[in-house]
This record gives sequence, C-alpha cells and structure tokens, in this order.
Amino acid sequence: MGQLHILFLPMMAHGHMIPTLDMAKLFTSKGLKTTIISTPAFADPIEKAQNSGFINIGLKIIKFPPKQSDLPDHIMSLDQATSNDLLPKFFKALSLLQEPVDKLIQEIYPNCLISDMFLPWTVNSAAKFGIPRLVFHGISYLSLCSIEQMRRFKPFNNVSSDSEQFVLPDLPHELKFVRTQVAKYLLEENKMTDFMERVRDADLRSYGVVVNSFYEMEHDYADYYKNVLGRKAWNIGPLLLCNNRGDKVERGKKSSIDAHECLTWLDSKKPNSVVYMCFGSMVNFTQSQLHEIANGLEISSHDFIWVVRKSENEEFLPKGFLERTKGRGLIIRGWAPQVSILDHAAIGAFVTHCGWNSILEGVCAGVPMVTWPLFAEQFFNEKLVTEVLRIGVSVGNKMWQRVANEGVDREAVAKAVEIVMVGELASEMRNRVKCYKEMARKAVEEGGSSYNDLSALIEDLSAYSPSRNNVVQDI
Ligand code: UDP
Repeated sequence: MGQLHILFLPMMAHGHMIPTLDMAKLFTSKGLKTTIISTPAFADPIEKAQNSGFINIGLKIIKFPPKQSDLPDHIMSLDQATSNDLLPKFFKALSLLQEPVDKLIQEIYPNCLISDMFLPWTVNSAAKFGIPRLVFHGISYLSLCSIEQMRRFKPFNNVSSDSEQFVLPDLPHELKFVRTQVAKYLLEENKMTDFMERVRDADLRSYGVVVNSFYEMEHDYADYYKNVLGRKAWNIGPLLLCNNRGDKVERGKKSSIDAHECLTWLDSKKPNSVVYMCFGSMVNFTQSQLHEIANGLEISSHDFIWVVRKSENEEFLPKGFLERTKGRGLIIRGWAPQVSILDHAAIGAFVTHCGWNSILEGVCAGVPMVTWPLFAEQFFNEKLVTEVLRIGVSVGNKMWQRVANEGVDREAVAKAVEIVMVGELASEMRNRVKCYKEMARKAVEEGGSSYNDLSALIEDLSAYSPSRNNVVQDI
C-alpha cells in the first residue's frame, strides 16, 4: 500500500503544540507523511522544522479565532483565555473550526486524524470521511485514569470538609486528595462539565488514544487504562526523545535569553548545584506569591534559574533581591530554553507546576523535582512524581487555581528545595530519576516498549485503510 498520511489537529497551546510537532517528526522518521493544521500564532516552529529538513511535515494554516466567534481577536491561544467567561468562548470558537477543518480533510485525504482532546467534534469529521480518529490528550496515564475515577465515583462528596482527605477508588495506588485540589467542573456542574462530557463521549467513539508516556514508568496505569477502563491506547513517548534531529534549544517559541549565554552561566556552576524553576506556558502568579517565591529562593541559598512571565511588572521582585542574590541567580523573563537547561549537569532540581511535558522533560534529564501543581491535571501528575515514582517532593499547594495567590509561603519553598537538593533523600530521588531516564531512553530505541507500540499502531493504521477507501467512495 502507499505512504500513510497522518493529519494532526492540535490545540492552540504550547503544551499541546510542542509534543504534536515531536509526534509529526516521529511519524515522518518512520516513512509516513504528516500534515499539521495550525493557526498563524503557532506556525513558526513547524516552518522551522520544514526548513531544517523535515520535508514530510506539511502545514495548513487556519484562522483563529474564526470570524464568526465572539472571542476577542487578540485571544489566539489557551493561555490567553484566563478569565472564567473567556474559557467557554474559547472552546466555542474551537468548534467553529469544523467547517474549514472538514474542507482540509477532504482536500488532504489523510489516512488518519490525530486530534487534540479539546476538539471533540473531530470524531464526527473523521467518521464523515471514513478515517480513524486518534485522540491526543497530552497527559499521563495516571491522570487519564484518575480523571475517569474522579468523574465516576465523585469521592469528594463523601468528605465533610475541604481539608478532609479522600482516596480515589479502585486505582493501583492509594492516591489521596482533598476537595480543593479538584477541578471546579468535576465538583459541580458548570459549562465546562458539559464540554468535558462531550470530550469523553468523543474519546469513547474514537479509534484509540496516543499517549506521550512510556510503559516502564507508568505500567500500572497503562494496564489499568487499557484492561480495566477498556480503552485502546498506544504509548509512544517520551516524544521529546524520539526527536534526535530536533531543536532542543527552541521548543515552541524563541527563547528570551541567548541559550549559549545561559549554558555558559551554568558551566561555571558545580554539578547538581542549581535549582531550575519554571511553571510552563500558562501559569500566572499574583505579585505577593512571586515575592514569597523570591524570598524562598533567597533563604534556600542555592543557585537558581527562575523563569517568570514577560508581562510581570517591575515590582515582581522584593526590594534589593537582585543585589542580595548577585552571582547566584539568573532570572529569565519570558521563554526559557527549558530542555537544554534541564539537560545541563549543573541542574540539581526542577521546581515545576507539573505540566506533563515538563515532568517528562525532568525525567528525561534525570532531575528530581519540587512539585507545585496549580490546575488542569497537574495535581494527579504530582502524585505520580512524589508517591508512585518517588522522584520529587511537594511544595504543599492544595488549591486548584488558574491564578496562583499566596498559598505557599517562603519557608515551604525553601524547605522543599532543600529536601530535593541535599541529603540522603535527595540522593535517593536523584538515583531513582536517573533510572527512569535510562528506561525512557531504552523505551524509544529499537525494540523498546514505545518503539514497539508505535510500530503496532502504524500496522493497525495500515490495516484500517481499505475500509477507509470504501467509505470515502460512498460519500
Ligand atoms: N517551555 C519552554 N520554556 C518556557 C516555558 C515552557 O520551553 O519558558 C516548554 C516546556 O519545556 C514544555 C512546554 O513548554 O515543553 C510546557 O508544557 P507543560 O505541559 O509542561 O505545561 P503547560 O504550559 O501546558 O502548562
């Protein structure tokens, strides 16, 4: 049969676009053709990949937000939809993409559509054209399983206060949470609840799920997802390792700092001596919480790289902070070359918001973590890091929130950093995460678990094609 062609439709967010481009690179390395549908705001890295030799990655641009949407024109990505009223408008605007996307499917005529979870209507588009839809959630197996159990059993209804713990039933580990760590749409019905039900329904009607994870790290939850929850899934990650020809320095966006300058600064530091702190592409902190972080870094006395959003005003640092920490710290305002930084031998710990890409990047670099989850599925990822894999400690945030206010004080920051940086526990965590790093590398090598799962998926998709041809001829 001819060359398989995969069409990707990612979500407009860096945490979704970055692994999608990695995935496209991975599929093309297996001889497949790929096309990514993107909006202008996210097209740059794809064009860069094309220019650096990935000739089998095509790009189709669609406008977002679409003309008919009531989303303001300047909201072009999920991280910009910060308020509660913008989020439903954002998802509604996404659903208006169905018409242009259907036209592209008709034009491109792919063998398979890999769609982001947040575009549930694509299950109908794929069915219309008789092609399989695979879903990409961009999250861990543990999170996929936990969200389902939270939705099914609603264990937060069995506690009498926000601080009383409950166990998420029937999972491979006894994972305990409090009510304030649960997303609002699960706690009570709102517009998001309806939307997430549509997402789930589309998942169930899809051909299967591709997961950016590897079996050795999450085998209990990979098995649970497939065998107990009955989902068809292929683990093909860590995607960032599948991408040998990829650009480690500039993933997603142009760095706000010269990577060479940053790495030279790290070269002057001792191995495992620097704390790297970054909260991904979506997290916002109040000024008082930023001050607590700064004071925590100052108390901890370790060298640090701290990434803050470009939009923070000049007062985001306590008075005199820069003078007092001179030579000890590097503050990056904007976008950091995260993977290159984490891979540097001087990095001793990663303070992370537990976005799934960041966790995988921490694991692949063999760096223990301080976990500071804030929203989305980040509280589940924290459990994987701190209790299942035991490669990190929690800073102690118990509040699910889109904008983080002073829930964590300076002592908590300094204490968690200390535990991960020095002492017996720190070296145990470091040794364990180094083992996972090695397992990750092996998983994507020839004969490894992710390598084999990808081969199995490609075989399945090849076998699916004849029925696709039949259906398309019927249209
Ligand atoms: N990232 C980066 N530089 C930054 C911030 C983020 O390269 O300054 C990358 C990070 O390496 C990861 C992605 O952006 O690949 C963020 O994804 P994640 O799932 O960790 O968090 P999200 O942004 O989706 O909350």
